[in-house]
Amino acid sequence: MGWSIALHGGAGDIPYSLPPERRAPREAALRQCLAIGVAALKASRPPLDVVELVVRELENCPHFNAGKGSVLTTDGTVEMEACIMDGNTQKCGAVSGLSTVVNAISLARLVMEKTPHIYLAFDGAEAFAREQGVETVDANHFITPENVERLKQAKEANRVQIDYTQPVKEDKPQETSSGKGDSQIGTVGCVAVDGSGNLAAATSTGGLVNKMVGRIGDTPVIGAGTYANSFCAVSATGKGESIIRATIARDVAALMEYKGLSLREAAAYVVNNVPRGNVGLVAVSAKGEVTMPFNTRGMFRACATEDGYSEIGIWPSETDCVLPDPKR
Ligand code: ASP
Repeated sequence: MGWSIALHGGAGDIPYSLPPERRAPREAALRQCLAIGVAALKASRPPLDVVELVVRELENCPHFNAGKGSVLTTDGTVEMEACIMDGNTQKCGAVSGLSTVVNAISLARLVMEKTPHIYLAFDGAEAFAREQGVETVDANHFITPENVERLKQAKEANRVQIDYTQPVKEDKPQETSSGKGDSQIGTVGCVAVDGSGNLAAATSTGGLVNKMVGRIGDTPVIGAGTYANSFCAVSATGKGESIIRATIARDVAALMEYKGLSLREAAAYVVNNVPRGNVGLVAVSAKGEVTMPFNTRGMFRACATEDGYSEIGIWPSETDCVLPDPKR
């Protein structure tokens, strides 16, 4: 038993040819955020604080699809969403449809702590942000040239990550439209446990490129993209609609609780039962175990445990990939 932490910067069809200028800053951000989380755990900060702290850092990094890096809706607007959950109390907070809030994850925590509710969205969530005095900026602050270009490419290819008019074949990894070698999805998340087995999970996202205005994904949905109880904490990433259908995060916890599976077995079982190319997750257990399976081509991820294990990766490694890509 000891502390452990895992974080992700999104799962998806990340090409092996990802150019160094796109790869290096993301790896550096993962390393930096991991170090921040580890230092906080070593300083005995509660896991709930740790996951919020780490996700705030990831939101502030323009290289991931959350906060500053959030991708655009079909109207070229930003609609961010986030969720945080405490394993011990199972208190949780979630927000959707944010366009001006700098750190959606902190607003989710305020929903959890300052309201009788769990989930606020759109105008009500924005009004709550102002009432609480959290940092907000003009919505244009989030509209980066990179995301304008991503939206343009997605529109040219008549492609949405989940295309509502022409559903993509779910058993095939999606192709990038541009050939420029970037992953279109890159939600962020963090899970942590302290030496006493207290667990917490947090996830934040801009959603999917070219998503319909008003679309809500898995990230803020308790039990789908985010979940924590006394057994484990889970943050998922990938195609939100698939994650919601499979209630990914809650299923990992349920398999541990009802079937006695280990964290690793439960997470692998869940990821293996979702169509290939769709999901990844990071999870830690009350015992301090960590796992980071995915069935996409890659997942930006990092973890560390009290006994000295540490990993930062993008593509499959021996230990964490459930379904390695046969093309590799
Ligand atoms: N799961 C997110 C969504 O569907 C996307 C992601 O994980 O990058 O909104």
